Amino acid sequence: MDKSKKGPKFIKGLPILEYHRLRYAKNKKKITKRKREWYRQNRERTLKRMKAWRDKNNSWYKKKYYREHREHLQKQSRVQYKRDPQKRMAATYRWRGKNLKKWREYDNQWKRKARKVDPNKTRKKEKAYRAKNAKRIRAWFKAYYDKPNSKYKAYLQAWRKRNVERLRTYRFNRENKYRGWDGLRKKLHAGEIVAKWKRVRRLCYICGKYLDELEIHIDHVDPCGTNNLGNLMPTHKGCNSRKSDKRHFKFARPDLLAIA
Ligand SMILES: [Zn+2]
Repeated sequence: MDKSKKGPKFIKGLPILEYHRLRYAKNKKKITKRKREWYRQNRERTLKRMKAWRDKNNSWYKKKYYREHREHLQKQSRVQYKRDPQKRMAATYRWRGKNLKKWREYDNQWKRKARKVDPNKTRKKEKAYRAKNAKRIRAWFKAYYDKPNSKYKAYLQAWRKRNVERLRTYRFNRENKYRGWDGLRKKLHAGEIVAKWKRVRRLCYICGKYLDELEIHIDHVDPCGTNNLGNLMPTHKGCNSRKSDKRHFKFARPDLLAIA
């Protein structure tokens, strides 16, 4: 066949798209057949090109689809979770592993929102999570610390080198908090501190206000002192943390110390 005779014949005055449309309408069957033939012959190449196109445009389509079918998709995901929680969670974790940065961003955003709505609930939840997964968290920190060229390890080591004295004090305090006068580990009985709380007229010696039995926190009067009852006073949680490890603090009721 002579190739120069084929190709578009421009009809005068018609835009090129219009020309193709007309040509297609006229030779629909023939063109479709030829196209099918071409696809059959170039199947691999076509599939490859289609895949490339999909990869390039997929996220946009996915996002669009999600936006349009949001409620339905969320419902479906809930159903899937009920049917097989492990499988669903595995898929979620897989996604998180692949999109770690994105996920952290989402997670932080969500947490910030939740904290604004109800800070106490969030705090409680986080505390419960930490208590439940203490082993896992510790293992995670250890792995993070032991990682080759760990920045965290280097940071901690540098900190330790800079704060040798402070570290010694911490260790000393921690050891001593758990010792009685005899230098042995002494366990405190709840009854002892409650009896003391009654002796000080159910008041907190730091702020001088009434202290409920259920709110009792045990403060070490001398933070470096012992765990002996003489060094312990019932206080509010807030007062205790306000005093922290300070030895000289302005107490509202120093007289209560003398009673106990
Ligand atoms: Zn108080």
